[in-house]
Amino acid sequence: MGVRGRFDLHTHSSVSDGTETPGELVAAAAAAGLDGIALTDHDSTAGWQDARTAALRHGVALLPGMELSTRHGWASVHVLGYLFDPTDAGILAETERIRRDRVTRAETMVTRIGHDYELEWDDVVAQTTPGGTVGRPHIADALVAKGHVRDRGEAFATILHWRAGYYEPHYAPEPLEGIRLIVAAGGVPVLAHPGVSTDRILPEDYLRRLIDAGLFGVEVHHRDNSPNGARRLLELAQKYDLAVTGSSDYHGAGKPNRLGENTTAPEVVERLVAAATGYAPVTRPA
Ligand code: AMP
Ligand code: ZN
Ligand code: FE
Ligand code: FE
Repeated sequence: MGVRGRFDLHTHSSVSDGTETPGELVAAAAAAGLDGIALTDHDSTAGWQDARTAALRHGVALLPGMELSTRHGWASVHVLGYLFDPTDAGILAETERIRRDRVTRAETMVTRIGHDYELEWDDVVAQTTPGGTVGRPHIADALVAKGHVRDRGEAFATILHWRAGYYEPHYAPEPLEGIRLIVAAGGVPVLAHPGVSTDRILPEDYLRRLIDAGLFGVEVHHRDNSPNGARRLLELAQKYDLAVTGSSDYHGAGKPNRLGENTTAPEVVERLVAAATGYAPVTRPA
């Protein structure tokens, strides 16, 4: 694939917690002047077909992907997986397990919140897409609809914050296990926003195990990484020959992040595509 132009390798649609359908998201990427995007909904590939159709229509290159939820100790770790086989049995079983427990976990949180605020499970269901991945952003949207908070940002800063007393974690595999699953399905794994702060970066010996398992890169250019975190990630990338990616983590109207606010160098996209064996990028024949 001859890669040129601006690629945003981390976006969400209404299949998880973005506010636009995959087709609308791809149209928005075209309107933003991007040459390509990756669709990376949380723990789901349900948007790939719709995004694919839109990508061919709008002439935007598409790298179908996913943001896999994992956990290391207390820390939630997001692993971006690109161009893996979406019918792979291991990926299917694990993502189904995560999505199912996300629902149970959200129900638990809503029950707790319901003791202090008027909120019912149906209010949250009304904010989700059938079959989509449920997350705290949907609880946030329900809290907004009920008039308890102004927007998702306020919900996350208050009621949905883990310190607020309503928080419940959901099942997630170890990052090492997640990376093994993505690689086994022919995909390419990249750690999402790993440098929120320097002390939140995974321990170097554990990172080395991830690299041995096939970790391709780290998302350095992302608004949630701190300046020091990003600097440290660049050092680690150089030391271990990891690819450096950049992206917006666009969620439509659900977050201030704008499409293309960070992008990934075409050479890196080209290497990523070359490393994948599970699924071909979607491009319009020239
Ligand atoms: P969950 O995985 O269900 O715990 O929810 C985490 C998701 O909420 C992440 O994917 C974020 O994109 C989203 N999120 C986190 N903080 C905020 C915020 N302040 N505003 C909007 N969305 C947020
Ligand atoms: Zn999200
Ligand atoms: Fe994330
Ligand atoms: Fe994300």
